[in-house]
Amino acid sequence: MTPNLQPAHDDAAGLSHLLDRGELDLSHKVILYLEDITVSFDGFKALDALTLTIDAGELRCIIGPNGAGKTTMMDVITGKTRPDAGRAYFGQTLDLTKMSEPEIAHTGIGRKFQKPTIFERHTVFENLELARKTDKRVRRTLFDEVDYGVRDRVADTLGRIRLDRDADRPAGLLSHGQKQWLEIGMLLIQEPRLLLLDEPVAGMTDEETERTAELFVSLAGEHSLMVVEHDMAFVKLLGGRVTVLHEGRVLAEGSLATVQADERVIEVYLGR
Ligand code: ADP
Ligand code: MG
Repeated sequence: MTPNLQPAHDDAAGLSHLLDRGELDLSHKVILYLEDITVSFDGFKALDALTLTIDAGELRCIIGPNGAGKTTMMDVITGKTRPDAGRAYFGQTLDLTKMSEPEIAHTGIGRKFQKPTIFERHTVFENLELARKTDKRVRRTLFDEVDYGVRDRVADTLGRIRLDRDADRPAGLLSHGQKQWLEIGMLLIQEPRLLLLDEPVAGMTDEETERTAELFVSLAGEHSLMVVEHDMAFVKLLGGRVTVLHEGRVLAEGSLATVQADERVIEVYLGR
């Protein structure tokens, strides 16, 4: 699968109503509010009055058994799925349930799916450059095709994702872990405020997993991150607050040690 590089059909006119990132209101230090979100599929509640908030700059881990609703929650945040009930706000003022998927991406919510969508035959550098150039927000601000800041941004991003020495290699030659980092870089270069990452270390070596944890820890503060992950060693390295989802609701929340000691969490994971 390759990302869609066609300029969006609404690029010329339709985007003028879109919100600038400056409108993201973090005055209450909360970047994401989900309140009583319910999503039903043929009467089955994938999310059942889910309430969860993420602080600005926070690094949050979401864990929970298969079918708990983790991916559905990300679908609601990104506008892919509309909730049947409940409220979802980005900062104080942006109602995500009333925004389209492109509008939500444009205001600064970036999502990484499990399967990388890089251009294998292009170099690492070119992949990042393309990700920057296809960011509609950038195109609009600069009025023309030449983004003079792009080389600096690519160089900066290459360092962050530890691929500076691989800049000129075709992306297809990277290891699995490096491809995942490249895709994270392709998100970062669009300067998202909130990053949603679904099982980012699946298939990585232990060393790649550790480096990914370091990267995420370094991103927190400047960015807010919501990380869905099963790998508890990784969750421990991240060190942030952990939310346990079960049957579409929050079952427990706190430090990893706290939730791991929670009887209800143990029961759900061990199926006692
Ligand atoms: P998780 O990511 O935590 O494993 P999901 O959000 O993918 O869980 O799924 C939650 C529940 O909703 C599961 O029981 C799943 O089968 C169901 N579900 C998810 N998407 C759909 C859909 N499009 N149609 C019907 N059921 C769905
Ligand atoms: Mg899932």
